[in-house]
Amino acid sequence: MTNKIWAYIDQFKGEALPSSWETIGAGLTLAESLGGGVTAVVFGENIKGVAEEAFQYGADEVIVADDPTLGDYRAEAYTTLLAKLAADSAPDVILFPTTTRGREVSGMAAVDLNTGVLVDVTALEVVDGVVVATRPIYAGKLLAKVQCSAKPQLITLRGRAFAKPVEDATRSGTPITVPAALTEDEISVKVVDYATVSGGVSLADAAVIVSGGRGVSNNPKLTPPGDLDEAGQEIWKAQQGFKLVGDLAAALGGAVGASRAAVDAGYIPYSNQVGQTGKVVAPDMYVACGISGAIQHLAGMRTSKMIVAINKDPDAPIFKLARFGVVGDLFEILPPLVEAMKARLGK
Ligand SMILES: Cc1cc2nc3c(=O)[nH]c(=O)nc-3n(C[C@H](O)[C@H](O)[C@H](O)COP(=O)(O)OP(=O)(O)OC[C@H]3O[C@@H](n4cnc5c(N)ncnc54)[C@H](O)[C@@H]3O)c2cc1C
Repeated sequence: MTNKIWAYIDQFKGEALPSSWETIGAGLTLAESLGGGVTAVVFGENIKGVAEEAFQYGADEVIVADDPTLGDYRAEAYTTLLAKLAADSAPDVILFPTTTRGREVSGMAAVDLNTGVLVDVTALEVVDGVVVATRPIYAGKLLAKVQCSAKPQLITLRGRAFAKPVEDATRSGTPITVPAALTEDEISVKVVDYATVSGGVSLADAAVIVSGGRGVSNNPKLTPPGDLDEAGQEIWKAQQGFKLVGDLAAALGGAVGASRAAVDAGYIPYSNQVGQTGKVVAPDMYVACGISGAIQHLAGMRTSKMIVAINKDPDAPIFKLARFGVVGDLFEILPPLVEAMKARLGK
């Protein structure tokens, strides 16, 4: 294992999360200054295909631990193995996607390796041979430049903040296989079952996100079923609003997001929440429908490449950040917009 830059590939059931490939792209850019290439690291079971893809996305080396004990993600097993490999090979930098597992493995490995972890980084540069990372702080109001004086520097990259390398199907290689670090008896967590809490396009990887806020329940013209109480009527109205939000997301091939107000009111599950206490996203286009633009919401989406806002209130703070703003009722604007998008995109 010769390279000083490693890229951790987060996979689930033999499929890499798309943001994992961005770690290879960012690693290759660093390698232009630091020298060497990029070593991808993949743990799991039946992950031959992921290792092949890692070569195709530009990794020069791929370390693979393919073992039944790694079939289900368990922090103990993954972290112990990564820390052991890093202690043995002493890379300078390990890049992770800022996924739930990427955050957990990097944080725990940092403890084992007695180093630091720079989280949710949006840019990297090399200054005097040291990697300096940029990360948004204070809900995205400031950008801080940070570096870690210990090695390896563990860095998690914000999804879609770095370009995914172009896949080259002609590239291939032979992975370096390593054994798991723990036996099944040594792993205290057992995975019993998986419960699906959300489906469709994942928020972290979506190029387009259409989000709904409290405004999705505000349509006085709708008549909810009479047998519902006041709270039930509000949720019923919100479901009609979120159906329109979902229709636009589907027409654009995107994912559905939400403000915390919408989540707290029970309109949509927490897994859809964008913001300081939800998911941090950076899609090519973010469409905010009936969302005022509170600082805590902006913290989760302000690095989107293009923001579109639909809101009845011309003074809503979201318009300060939006490239395109539509002042009006989302219940009137979304239906013709969905039809126009479907027609234009041939759906
Ligand atoms: C510690 C902390 C953490 C937080 N974390 C988050 C977080 O992660 N994510 C988050 O989103 N919030 C978070 N919040 C909450 C945040 O402060 C706001 O309360 C929340 O974002 C407001 O959601 P909203 O914009 O949907 O609702 P509102 O602020 O009530 O805005 C609703 C908007 O809809 C518009 N509207 C109403 N009807 C229509 C219609 N028919 N058509 C078009 N527009 C309409 C209104 O003009 C208004 O602008 C957090 C707060 C705290 C204190």
